[in-house]
Amino acid sequence: MAKVTLCSDWLDVCSGCHMSLLDIDERIVELLKHVQLLSMPITDLKHPPKGGCDIGILTGAVSNDHQEAVAKEMRERCKLLIALGDCAVFGGICAMRNFFDVEDVLRRGYIETESTAPGSEVPRSEEIAKLFPQVKAVNQVVKVDIHIPGCPPPSEAIWYALTELLAGRMPVLTDDLLTYD
Ligand code: SF4
Repeated sequence: MAKVTLCSDWLDVCSGCHMSLLDIDERIVELLKHVQLLSMPITDLKHPPKGGCDIGILTGAVSNDHQEAVAKEMRERCKLLIALGDCAVFGGICAMRNFFDVEDVLRRGYIETESTAPGSEVPRSEEIAKLFPQVKAVNQVVKVDIHIPGCPPPSEAIWYALTELLAGRMPVLTDDLLTYD
């Protein structure tokens, strides 16, 4: 039987949600009997295959035009999309900047921090992704099929969701697997 194919990517994010995926520990060996890992930070392949894949996972919020393009490509190429972690589910810690003007955020980040060298400037280039005025959850950009909140979500929740999907069922996360941080 063909393996289920899995892609993932991270948007505006720390790596915590992918670390939580790895926290399933030795069960990853069992997972790999049924799942083929394609593009993801772990394999360092950058794009889901044009031919598509079965399950896509996005971690992180959508904060700029590059991340929006990544989210759209994942949606187009995956049959089923999981938003993993608070940042992906509702913006999480990334959305704290939504209380401020984006130029103030850039000035604070590149010029005003205590560790910034005097004379620093906000980098401006067409090659740099453009920050959106507001950070968005993934489902504000593309349709999401499964939301797994938590910062990061417990590995048990990720394991449960993946094994339910492998069994042909849509996962319904119970209270003990739902965390909101
Ligand atoms: S939800 Fe938490 S662990 Fe996951 S990417 Fe956001 S900040 Fe990191």
